[in-house]
Amino acid sequence: MATIAAAEIAFSRQPHPAPTPASDRAAVLADPGFGKAFSDHMVSIEWDESLGWHSATVGPREPILLDPACAVLHYAQEIFEGLKAYKTADDGIALFRPEANARRFNASAARLAMPEMPEDTFVQAVTELVLADREWFPPVDGGSLYLRPFMFASEAFLGVRPARQYKFLVIASPAGNYFKSGAPAVSIWLSSDYTRAAPGGTGAAKCGGNYAASLVPQADAIARGHDQVVFLDAAERKWIEELGGMNLFFVKADGSLITPPLSGTILPGITRDSLLALAADEGLTVREERYAFDQWRADAASGALLETFACGTAAVVTAVGEVAGHFGEFTVGSGGPGQLTQKLRQQLVAIQRGEAPDPHGWVKRIA
Ligand SMILES: *Cc1c(COP(=O)(O)O)cnc(C)c1O
Repeated sequence: MATIAAAEIAFSRQPHPAPTPASDRAAVLADPGFGKAFSDHMVSIEWDESLGWHSATVGPREPILLDPACAVLHYAQEIFEGLKAYKTADDGIALFRPEANARRFNASAARLAMPEMPEDTFVQAVTELVLADREWFPPVDGGSLYLRPFMFASEAFLGVRPARQYKFLVIASPAGNYFKSGAPAVSIWLSSDYTRAAPGGTGAAKCGGNYAASLVPQADAIARGHDQVVFLDAAERKWIEELGGMNLFFVKADGSLITPPLSGTILPGITRDSLLALAADEGLTVREERYAFDQWRADAASGALLETFACGTAAVVTAVGEVAGHFGEFTVGSGGPGQLTQKLRQQLVAIQRGEAPDPHGWVKRIA
């Protein structure tokens, strides 16, 4: 579908008539967890064939009314994004690479036969919401406002074709600190029975359907006492791809860093891309190349591999300590967060919060 020319679109601003009382909000913000508390407002924009994107509103967060024939409920035409707004050291507010989320959102839209949104409109929508809900940052060190832009097919129609009406929404959820010192390494389970994405499928798109398909293997990993599931490629069941929602990096003893290439079955993480750049700035040898599961296991045993970490917006960087599966299990390095894992995490977090120079121009100040 055609991209509409970029232009500032007019948002109607409707402040919440009865926002959460300050004392209730403070209670929520004292321990927000992740994804369970929500701010007072939301952004909503409509799309149809004749008007394109229209009726942009930032208003009270409220339930949405859907026709039972609404296409998304039947054929899962839905995509989403995830990014964070941070309070900076001088009490300003910044977004991290929102244009990259806008571009990826449009790549996902193209794959799911949905209309693209001008990047400016996407960034404007996110900004409007953060400014309306600026009281919703947890006052804890490292707290942030997690933003969830998403779009779904809203047309009431049961025929199988791309819908002709869509809704774009942005909601916000206060998020606590993931970076408390001593953040434990996670234990991951190798899924032998399931894959996440096949060549030619939707693995590179951030769509809800990918997550629906990963819930059984993820729940299986949890039931076995592990934190996350790691998937292999669907064709050969040999190459490491990613976790259900995070990309993977491997630190070799020779100082090089490996991450699986964006082959079409891996989600192009913005954290992944940022860490590749930071590692290159450090002078590390960075290789985007396939890494076989058996090689990982052998390298961990021989000491040729020192560290493994997963990365994504929600937890930024998380060490992988244990890997288990039907084959048995192995430990990576010491089993805890390794040196480079911790260093890269600290560097990225410092840039995100405006505490370190931003040579790549990633931080977008909005207040
Ligand atoms: C969102 C996502 C990631 C991480 O992307 P970031 O932009 O770094 O948050 C990794 N894998 C999958 C499957 C994802 O959906």
